[in-house]
Amino acid sequence: MQLQDLGVDCIFHGVLGLAISKQFLGRYLTLAFLFSVIPDLIDTTPYQIQKFRHSFKESIKEFLNDFLKFTRRDQFFDNWDRHIYRSTHNVFAWIFITLISWFIFPDIFVVLSICYLSHLLIDIFTHQDEFATRLFIPFQIFTFK
Ligand SMILES: [Zn+2]
Repeated sequence: MQLQDLGVDCIFHGVLGLAISKQFLGRYLTLAFLFSVIPDLIDTTPYQIQKFRHSFKESIKEFLNDFLKFTRRDQFFDNWDRHIYRSTHNVFAWIFITLISWFIFPDIFVVLSICYLSHLLIDIFTHQDEFATRLFIPFQIFTFK
């Protein structure tokens, strides 16, 4: 995955979440959309901040050049960025989110949990290299690609 694909990637996860909610609850649920994109919402925020910070220059042209260069980049800025990304893309985060949703939304937590899990499962097949999904991090670091 390159970060330029992130927008399309996020929309796909969200639409899949809506389809899951329609299948299991009979209606399109905004929360299902949200739970399907939570991993990327959390992990891309630091990256977007870094992108703006590193792109800031004297002229708008230089800013746009750097901003586009960083958008096409397929690696993290630093370890902090990498850790945040991987902290949302593993089974422990999924279990944590499931428990939280069980307390807050007891009637629909199973569907919300499936939405989050669907994100992880899709990412296994669509992300590679630095962004490859490491489901059991920090206990192992093997990837599926
Ligand atoms: Zn993701």
